[in-house]
Amino acid sequence: MPTYDPKSPKADDFINDEEIKATLAYAEENKNNRELIGQILEKARPKKTEKGCTCAGLTHREASVLLACGIPEVTEQIYAIAEEIKQAFYGNRIVIFAPLYLSNYCVNGCLYCPYHLKNGHIPRKKLTQEEVKAEVIALQDMGHKRLAIESGEDPVNNPIEYILDCIKTIYSVHHKNGDIRRVNVNIAATTVENYRKLKEAGIGTYILFQETYHKESYLRLHPTGPKHDYDYHTEAMDRAMEGGIDDVGLGVLFGLELYKYEFAGLLMHAEHLEAVHGVGPHTISVPRVKRADDIDPDAFDNGIDDETFAKITACIRLAVPYTGMIISTRENQSVREKLLRLGISQISGGSRTSVGGYAEKERPHDTEQFDVSDQRTLDEVVNWLMERDHIPSFCTACYREGRTGDRFMSLCKSGQILNCCHPNALMTLSEYLEDYASPETKKRGYEMVERELDRIPNEKAREIARQNIEDIRNSNRRDFRF
Ligand code: SAM
Repeated sequence: MPTYDPKSPKADDFINDEEIKATLAYAEENKNNRELIGQILEKARPKKTEKGCTCAGLTHREASVLLACGIPEVTEQIYAIAEEIKQAFYGNRIVIFAPLYLSNYCVNGCLYCPYHLKNGHIPRKKLTQEEVKAEVIALQDMGHKRLAIESGEDPVNNPIEYILDCIKTIYSVHHKNGDIRRVNVNIAATTVENYRKLKEAGIGTYILFQETYHKESYLRLHPTGPKHDYDYHTEAMDRAMEGGIDDVGLGVLFGLELYKYEFAGLLMHAEHLEAVHGVGPHTISVPRVKRADDIDPDAFDNGIDDETFAKITACIRLAVPYTGMIISTRENQSVREKLLRLGISQISGGSRTSVGGYAEKERPHDTEQFDVSDQRTLDEVVNWLMERDHIPSFCTACYREGRTGDRFMSLCKSGQILNCCHPNALMTLSEYLEDYASPETKKRGYEMVERELDRIPNEKAREIARQNIEDIRNSNRRDFRF
């Protein structure tokens, strides 16, 4: 019988079903316990220190109590604290990225994904290196600097060598003033040796969604293919870290299983990584199941409404204050708008989820992985963010300066973010404005840059940033960073 142990290398111990059930029972018992809830909220609140701000975070049990609580004023407090944490550690910056689909060949049988092996009518496509180049040029022409590459799992069509070749090609393309400076990777669970190769190829974050932490459901939802192996999938992040990747990204696909179960599992996974490797996940994504080729999201019983979705996001923000949170174009503009305030720090923009989609004039639908709800262009997304006082950031400095894993966390905790991330955001935004923005976006953007430069506390950093932005505006010099 597996027993709960966050330090164990075994999936059944660190994502322990008994512990999750006990957590849900504890949360249910205490969901109206105002005294306990008051203490949990107090613990979650960011505290000012001499150096800046710290935040204790919450355990999976504490956060589950907040999630279970239905008292409206408590929900309001959760939202208010989530906003406070967001402001304290991420300010008003939002990092921008785009997914790049390399191949939809897949040998798995995932019931929610249109790329599943038995789907005989979608065209199967794998980009050649020339096509990767064309996609990257199209993405650079939009202004992107950070990509997340996506691929189905197929050892024959998409072996690790193929993925590595694609990464090399992506980094090699320098079109006009453009380049891709960070490639995050979302591919199936693999071996330590392959993770080491990805690390050597210079990837940013390795992202792998758990889909569901509920083992029985996991096995049913992944009936065939290598992904059927729950333990191998759940222990993948440990292998990635063993292979030297210290930025890993977690996520569950909300809608497949009961959300409270997933929420506890997700936080236990984060606690496990912290306990074993001394650093939690770099990011957490919050995708929901979407309509796709032969996939009807209503076929899954556990869909969550927008309000619940917002509360989950805010509770994750309270539990893991130093972890970046990502939302994709699976969500529409209004959902994204609400979640941005509650803790999201990264969003995709101008996304196409089909293989080879960016180089096409019209948005192709035949190989799409899921319907894109937010179909605005990147320029529209950038403009919309600024209109709402978020700074769109194309920054990729941290991992290029070796600030990964716990070194990134220390930056977060040291209070140096306003002297480091803030100027980096403004400098990369200026690159975007100069090279890619529409006149309207450019005008709004430079007004924002002027305003925000004044918020850099350190005089020297402020002056350097101001000078670099002058250079960006008056020359082809690019890629300044702190
Ligand atoms: N093939 C890799 C794997 O299995 O982990 C990763 C790439 S897959 C293209 C990326 C993610 O898309 C999956 O982990 C899954 O959560 C998500 N996804 C699949 N079908 C989806 C759907 N119908 N709606 C929303 N997201 C979906």
